[in-house]
Amino acid sequence: MGVHYKDLIGQRFGRLVVVKKSNKKSEQDRYALWDCKCDCGGKKTVKAIYLTRGKVKSCGCFHKEEDFSGRRIDKITVLNIKKREFVRKGEHRRKRTYWLCRCDCGFEKFVPAQDLKIGRPKNCGRKECSAKEYKAPGFISKDGYRIRYVPNHSNSNPSGAIPEHILVMSNILGRPLLKDETVHHKNGVRDDNRIENLELWTKSHPYGQRVEDKIVWAKEILALYEPQIKIFCKEDS
Ligand SMILES: [Zn+2]
Ligand SMILES: [Zn+2]
Repeated sequence: MGVHYKDLIGQRFGRLVVVKKSNKKSEQDRYALWDCKCDCGGKKTVKAIYLTRGKVKSCGCFHKEEDFSGRRIDKITVLNIKKREFVRKGEHRRKRTYWLCRCDCGFEKFVPAQDLKIGRPKNCGRKECSAKEYKAPGFISKDGYRIRYVPNHSNSNPSGAIPEHILVMSNILGRPLLKDETVHHKNGVRDDNRIENLELWTKSHPYGQRVEDKIVWAKEILALYEPQIKIFCKEDS
């Protein structure tokens, strides 16, 4: 005498989708067993009652997943909220886990667990966020440079941030710095931006070794720097 089973084929329970009635039998043959496919690609045979009561929701991958809640990456704090979403990868659709993250600026967004695993992102990535930071007086970058907020300067980045030593040198020259120019801190202290501690360097060099090219280059260098020779050459040298 066959028992009447409720047909669960095609139904979704968490990450599991029921594929077919299993050939396996439960201990007392009282419960129907169903073969399920998990979003992660795994398989699991589950008692109907566990599915319908929500006791089993994955092949086991859910509990194996790393818990990122409370973790801190730079300006990012991972909150205790995650979601699963389909991602298209070529022809396949796979579900991925996303954690809700809050940036120190207050902005929240979902981040793939895969990214968190490799220590990304460091912040929310919005321009406004980094700009806010630079606006704070005395902001020092991670590599030790004092950063200023000057949105319209040609040497500023898109967020309006400019290293102070670049700004100081640019003000002295009365022009933005060129691509091949850098500013050197003589005493090695990266936030000591007194003009007497700064030196303008140029990586400019002529193309090849042809004499005529070198003459053209030398003239350009003179035209560019000679008018301001006092800035670059100290009296005692
Ligand atoms: Zn799974
Ligand atoms: Zn932010």
